Amino acid sequence: MPFFPHLSAPLDLGFTTLRNRVIMGSMHTGLEDRFYHYDKLAAFYRERARGGVGLIVTGGISPNRQGWLLPFGGTLNFAGDLWNHRKVTRAVHEEGGKIVMQILHAGRYGYQPFVVSASAKKSPISPFTPKALSERGIERTIRAYVRCARLAQRAGYDGVEIMGSEGYLLNQFLCARTNLRQDRWGGPIENRMRLPLEIVRRMRAAIGSDFIIMYRHSLLDLVEGGNSWDDVVQVAKALEQAGVTILNTGYGWHEARVPTIVTSVPRAAFASVAGRLRREVGIPVVASNRINTPHDLEAILMRGDADLVSMARPFLADPEFVQKAVDGRAEAINTCIACNQACLDHTFARLPASCMVNPRAGRETELRYTPATAVRRVAVVGAGPAGLSAAVVAAERGHQVSLFDASGTIGGQFKIAMQIPGKEEFAETLRYFANRLLATGVQLNLQQRVSRAQLLAQDFDDIVLATGIVPRLPHIAGIEHPKVLSYLDVLQGKAAVGPRVAVVGAGGIGFDVCQYLLHDPGLAVPEPLSHWLREWGVDLAAASDGGLVPPRPDLPLRQIYLLQRKTSKVGAGLGKTSGWVHRSSLLRKGVEMLSAVQYERIDDAGLHITVDGQARLLEVDHVVICAGQESQTELMDGGGQGPARFHLIGGAALAGELDAKRAIREGAELAARL
Ligand code: FAD
Ligand code: NAP
Ligand code: SF4
Repeated sequence: MPFFPHLSAPLDLGFTTLRNRVIMGSMHTGLEDRFYHYDKLAAFYRERARGGVGLIVTGGISPNRQGWLLPFGGTLNFAGDLWNHRKVTRAVHEEGGKIVMQILHAGRYGYQPFVVSASAKKSPISPFTPKALSERGIERTIRAYVRCARLAQRAGYDGVEIMGSEGYLLNQFLCARTNLRQDRWGGPIENRMRLPLEIVRRMRAAIGSDFIIMYRHSLLDLVEGGNSWDDVVQVAKALEQAGVTILNTGYGWHEARVPTIVTSVPRAAFASVAGRLRREVGIPVVASNRINTPHDLEAILMRGDADLVSMARPFLADPEFVQKAVDGRAEAINTCIACNQACLDHTFARLPASCMVNPRAGRETELRYTPATAVRRVAVVGAGPAGLSAAVVAAERGHQVSLFDASGTIGGQFKIAMQIPGKEEFAETLRYFANRLLATGVQLNLQQRVSRAQLLAQDFDDIVLATGIVPRLPHIAGIEHPKVLSYLDVLQGKAAVGPRVAVVGAGGIGFDVCQYLLHDPGLAVPEPLSHWLREWGVDLAAASDGGLVPPRPDLPLRQIYLLQRKTSKVGAGLGKTSGWVHRSSLLRKGVEMLSAVQYERIDDAGLHITVDGQARLLEVDHVVICAGQESQTELMDGGGQGPARFHLIGGAALAGELDAKRAIREGAELAARL
């Protein structure tokens, strides 16, 4: 009996068979936009195909210039590009995998001046107003899609995925929100769906029956003016008739104010919506969004909510996800924790996508963990993200590694992070590292605060200091007052906190502390789906257009002020794709956010501040300090000289701008060089 029998069951599509039910969903890695990156892209997909995934979907490739997401984005519109794409298809096929190319026309989401859409209505996320496509323009667009699919077929792809969700061009035609046309391409749903249907029909006629056409259909638009469930079903049935092989599903436009993939979204939140669609059509349906474990995947398939499950970011975190699940080694999977820090946040910053918990992602040809030529005795001090990463990579390469931590458990600050409501996923990374420590034979020494003398006495070749940080104590008059607590007192020491609180410092930790204080810490478990749906105003039944209903958040437990000295918007420094979620969540619970604050003093009355020249007293019971951190480097005192080589990584090397992404990457990069 296989470990995950539904997951590992092949799917016969009539003309081809997928080896299991797992799809690696489309991700823009940044490598597909330049021809000179296609060797790297091929290596990236090769590792994922070797890891056993059933079907890979490429990052979005535009069918023409108007469809570019970014200037000079990846395009397939002439035969000269086939050579590069063949590197990708060959690599995947050599590993026994299958791959479809996603055709993505960004429409009004394009960040470039040639943007077009159904109507000349600017999107809130691009500065460019689109030109409404004329009849001839529509005809040219259809031909571009068909040409693109034909070229994909010649490049050796097993099919194409037509991107019809997330608010891109075809979604813009489908919804009254963006389609204001009065001609045969606008008005009732029969007209609004004409463009995607025409594309599918003519594509199918051009490429024959033995080529996958997957269509990513928006089941919940999560924007005002989105489609009703009846419209969604009508379109799906028409797509099936037109020749679609597989219906993939999408949730929420990019401009939606409801999060759909960040870590606080409950796992598999939208799977039941795919299940409803599956009962309406006769072709395979794919579940997607916030699915990251083989157990959830298996449960979705077993319940009959989908025929296939698509995950994207989990394949950045672990290319061997499927193989490990099938082999009964699910515990060894490096789970995507939905932080977006190295993937989507990079994409928005126009950096190549990678992964916080797997810094090799997208860098397979550069960051290699090759066997060590000479075995070294390595001490790693600190079992936070930086030390864990260094220890397991060094041991994997064959070095003899001893890992020390003063605490009784591994994790460093990550252990604290995972107590924040909505960040429970962070525990998965520590489960993964614990597993790797065992598998790679790292000697783990907990509850050992080591000194420099102890380290030097043990004859190590390399000493890696990953001792992290200590919280900064700012110079504010009255900082020693009993109502002052550090974030460690609150999160680690579980200090009792009163109903009125001022949080000094509005970085990631200040936001997290607010989130923690707004919830009952006794309930710090994954929020049930119904609670999340109420909080964000989502109706999975889509009885109202787009699936939106008025949000009904819980009453806040405390009155909180979140303060910073900078004059910029509070939260401006948070991640591009998650910062707005943190801000909206706190604002909805009444947190007052203040910029340009000058701290005057803390006394029995509360926190005295000046804002814009105006003195103000915040009458609070406690002031929680989240004012950044300083490196903990005392083991370096005495320098890095001696028989052992000393190395500093993570917070110990530099506390400013520190996050776990840098900590894990630095650990891995150092260990790859030892
Ligand atoms: P640390 O995690 O600080 O680990 C250092 C370790 O060294 C500790 O375990 C300590 O016990 C040990 N140590 C120190 N001295 C000695 C000694 N002499 N002997 C033995 N052991 C010693 N980052 C993100 O990227 N994303 C987030 O969403 C995020 N959320 C966070 C939320 C909270 C509430 C907190 C507190 C942090 C969060 N962080 C987040 C920050 C992230 O956890 C840190 O950047 C990361 O843990 C730093 O890793 P590190 O290994 O350098 O140090
Ligand atoms: P941080 O992001 O550097 O924020 C520190 C805050 O303290 C800032 O708001 C700063 O604002 C304030 N501050 C700094 N010095 C001060 C002083 N002397 N007096 C008063 N205020 C002072 O650090 P952090 O919040 O401690 O987070 C640590 C790291 O963890 C960060 O790099 C962060 O990226 C990471 N993290 C990430 C997330 C996430 O969701 N991605 C969540 C938590 C943590 P002013 O100087 O304007 O007052
Ligand atoms: Fe997942 Fe975070 Fe890695 Fe992105 S960076 S793949 S969200 S773990």
